[in-house]
Amino acid sequence: MLGVTPDTNDQRPSTNNLKEISLVYDVCIVGSGAGGGMAAYALTKAGANVVLLEAGPSWFASRDSKMLMPSYASPRRGASTKTRPFGEFDACDGGWEIEGEPYTVAPGSKFMWWRARMLGGRTNHWGRISLRFGPRDFQGKTRDGLGEDWPIGYDDVAPYYDRVDRLIGLFGSHENLPNEPNGIFQPPPKPRCYELLVKKASDKLNVTCIPARLSIITQPLNGRLKCHYCGQCNRGCGVKANFSSPDVLIAPALATKRLTLLTSSMVREVTVGKDGLATGVSYIDKRTGEDKHVEARIVVLSASACETSRLLLNSKSSFFPQGLANGSGTVGKYLTDTTGTDLAGFIPAMADHVTHNEDGVGGMHLYMPWWLDNSKLDFPRGYHIEVWGGLYQPSAGFMGGIERYPGGGGYGKQLKQDYRKYYGATIGFSGRGEMIPNDESYLEIDPNVVDRWGIPVARFHWGWTDHEFNQVKHMHETFRALLTEMGGEIFSPMPTKEQGYNISTGGQIIHELGGARMGSDPKTSVVNANCQAHECKNLFVADGSPFVSQADKNPTWTILALSWRTADYIASQRKEGAL
Ligand SMILES: Cc1cc2nc3c(=O)[nH]c(=O)nc-3n(C[C@H](O)[C@H](O)[C@H](O)COP(=O)(O)OP(=O)(O)OC[C@H]3O[C@@H](n4cnc5c(N)ncnc54)[C@H](O)[C@@H]3O)c2cc1C
Ligand code: SF4
Repeated sequence: MLGVTPDTNDQRPSTNNLKEISLVYDVCIVGSGAGGGMAAYALTKAGANVVLLEAGPSWFASRDSKMLMPSYASPRRGASTKTRPFGEFDACDGGWEIEGEPYTVAPGSKFMWWRARMLGGRTNHWGRISLRFGPRDFQGKTRDGLGEDWPIGYDDVAPYYDRVDRLIGLFGSHENLPNEPNGIFQPPPKPRCYELLVKKASDKLNVTCIPARLSIITQPLNGRLKCHYCGQCNRGCGVKANFSSPDVLIAPALATKRLTLLTSSMVREVTVGKDGLATGVSYIDKRTGEDKHVEARIVVLSASACETSRLLLNSKSSFFPQGLANGSGTVGKYLTDTTGTDLAGFIPAMADHVTHNEDGVGGMHLYMPWWLDNSKLDFPRGYHIEVWGGLYQPSAGFMGGIERYPGGGGYGKQLKQDYRKYYGATIGFSGRGEMIPNDESYLEIDPNVVDRWGIPVARFHWGWTDHEFNQVKHMHETFRALLTEMGGEIFSPMPTKEQGYNISTGGQIIHELGGARMGSDPKTSVVNANCQAHECKNLFVADGSPFVSQADKNPTWTILALSWRTADYIASQRKEGAL
């Protein structure tokens, strides 16, 4: 093993409770993001004695957020740092690279892996776009013969979506669209000025455009205050009006006194007993560099889709020589990410704007769900469109590229005038679509590289197919039509086939799913319909890894609903004495 360096950066008060480590816990959960936070919440509420291990330090937005810090208060003016790539005051500690924790990419592939290392994982930053999968999303293969169907359908998950809506809260509107199910919504905020322009253009082009669905509360809920429209959601909400796992799930789980939280604890592998059942996990205490073990009757992996695959593949034993629960050889396989591409344009109608109120949440107030029929198109499955623009708080890098605006750029007074003139006059669109799982896109363990803790790292393989390329081409055509309809000027030419139509790099949209696919057949899947490993009955997965397909929906609301469903199953099996 490599020498292990203690985590000297972690100066925050310890939430570790090391004296508890000799206990055998009912359940051990690895990772505290959307999946792990929800599992901890539901299992402690169900009476289980739970230990939760998280590789990063403690962080609660209600305590630690820089929500109202003006960018000019810092000499960096809010510019990004190595561990905060989305800006100095952003909530999320993590990034495309994490010191001492590399990953590799196979020759010929491109892949980017964004990881968070803190209590709550990526839920501290995420865009909070909270979409249910629709009935069609669970049955892709039945519709077009591609990929696989899920072993469960919308009706199995719907009661848990309802529970998540009631507990966490989101705004939205009842639209009764066939594959965009209604939820239990709070009232949505009104469209902002630039969004009204977008709505007008989409109506003209028959592109469905409806209020966004974001897990931000516009009415008080379960002791949390409603949003006051400061627009700084990415920094973490100091009043808990948006969803992050620490404030909304882990804090109530801690209040049950049945949750032991071990932060700065990097899990190395799941340990297995002579009977082939999981006995707990071994981990590195990053504060001291010591190797430790925690024992539990049930193990739930929620380390994020790719980390969970890595953990399973690294958990080798005489029972599981190919890695835990990997008799099918499919751990790490069927990895997907959302397809993505973006385009912005200058909208002259928004230049030299009359000062107006643009208060709102830290995200879009409108979006466009998939609105077309694939039988008339040259690609399967759909995409949705996210909208951006407006008068966000300036920080370092603000309005870079101003020289592309008519007469824009230069120095001094003229440059300042141009900033005033063009501030808020850009509108952009991001397409986010469904990828079909393929044999080229998977992760394995790199035989030659270990991280700072001596843990073998993940190696990624990636390949888009024409399904995805044709879809992003269509995204660009739609964005161009919308911007043109608004009278906009587009600064970049239509990307070509040779440029892959500017499709995102695999992993770049940060919606990695799969790797421990759900299915009825143990020969082709890792977990069953309850996210329980086929080959190890006291091992469960509660993150994005059991997903069979992407859907054109951001995945977190489904991760939360499935995690709660899995926790309920664990609780019922414990009651029956089956676990
Ligand atoms: C910029 C950005 C915008 C996003 N926007 C949206 C959006 O609008 N809508 C949406 O649905 N999704 C969005 N996402 C994705 C969303 O954040 C994830 O889907 C969600 O957080 C996944 O939850 P998870 O529990 O699987 O993983 P994570 O939230 O990543 O949590 C995993 C946790 O496990 C810990 N961990 C990993 N390995 C170990 C180990 N070996 N030992 C101990 N702990 C470990 C990590 O430190 C981390 O805290 C966005 C993500 C980002 C980064
Ligand atoms: S916009 Fe609302 S939810 Fe977001 S940080 Fe401000 S108050 Fe909190």
